[in-house]
Formats: sequence, structure tokens, C-alpha cells
Amino acid sequence: MISSADTILEYPMVDKDPVARWTVGRVTLAGDAAHPMYPRGSNGAVQALIDVRTLADQLASSADPVAALKAYESARLEPAARVVRTNREHPPDFINIRVEELTGDRPFANLDDFITQDELRALSESYKRAAGFAIAAVAR
Ligand SMILES: Cc1cc2nc3c(=O)[nH]c(=O)nc-3n(C[C@H](O)[C@H](O)[C@H](O)COP(=O)(O)OP(=O)(O)OC[C@H]3O[C@@H](n4cnc5c(N)ncnc54)[C@H](O)[C@@H]3O)c2cc1C
Repeated sequence: MISSADTILEYPMVDKDPVARWTVGRVTLAGDAAHPMYPRGSNGAVQALIDVRTLADQLASSADPVAALKAYESARLEPAARVVRTNREHPPDFINIRVEELTGDRPFANLDDFITQDELRALSESYKRAAGFAIAAVAR
């Protein structure tokens, strides 16, 4: 099992504790500037894209840009912080880690002898839900 201590030691430059706010007046943060995270499973770039889509939506739908920046922060700060924390304990390649454990990191002929397709799918879906890119979350 990977621990947060292992992760922080391994990637001291890219994983930072979530901060309490991103917006000050007419300035806000997005992407890595707002929430640098453990880089796995395309989460860094995807979270930056979700940020800018949310920010663009807020700016387009509000006559007050300062209020739009605050609304963007309210929508995105906690979900992004949750991904930072999740990546420390259950990273998206947790599947690889689990398979390595189950197989004893030895060659195998058939993965189904160790874990079912349903279990693999459940592990993957659980991370997608936490990261905000499950199909249900992005479809619109
Ligand atoms: C080793 C590593 C592997 C990664 N692997 C993946 C991966 O597989 N998948 C994934 O999705 N993400 C990965 N990431 C994370 C991903 O690269 C970032 O999350 C993503 O690039 C963040 O985008 P951004 O636009 O916020 O920041 P950046 O991509 O860092 O863009 C910021 C830009 O601002 C510029 N800039 C900085 N200061 C100034 C200034 N004063 N004036 C003008 N310009 C400035 C920089 O030059 C840069 O071009 C990885 C990161 C690392 C470090």
C-alpha cells in the first residue's frame, strides 16, 4: 500500500497541501498554480481543464467578474483538494499496485485468476468519481 509519506518523499516538487483560497479581488488561480498534485492518470492536466471550463462558464454567465471568480473558486476548490488528497492514498494507478500485490509481482498467464473484471472496473470507477471525470460528471 502506498502511503502519503511515500508519495510526498517521492514527488516533493509537485504535491502541495491544498490552500484555503485561490481568489483575491480580480485575480484567481487555476491548474497547477492552484492545486499542484501527484501526477498520475492524467489528473493534473484534466483538473486544469475542468478549472478553466468552470471559470469560463462562470464568467460567461455573470455580469460581475469578481463574483464569477468567487463562484468559480467555490465550485472547484474543494473538489480539487479532494483529488490532491486522494492521489496521495489511492492514486489512479492503484490498480497496478493492487495487481502487483495479488500476483506477488511475478509473471502470470491470466489476470482473471487474480482479480475479476468487475473488481478492476470498480477500482477505476472509484477514482474517476473522485477526480470528477466519470462519464456522468462530464456529460452535458
Ligand atoms: C513529471 C510530471 C509528469 C506529469 N505527468 C502528467 C500526466 O501524465 N498527465 C497529466 O495530466 N498531467 C501530468 N503532469 C501534470 C501536468 O503537467 C500539469 O498538471 C499541467 O501541465 C498543469 O497545467 P497548467 O496550465 O496549470 O500549468 P503549466 O502547464 O505549468 O503552465 C504554466 C505556464 O506558465 C508559464 N509561466 C510561468 N511563469 C510565467 C510568467 N511569469 N510569465 C509568463 N508565463 C509564465 C510556464 O512557462 C508554463 O508554460 C505531470 C507533471 C509532472 C511534473
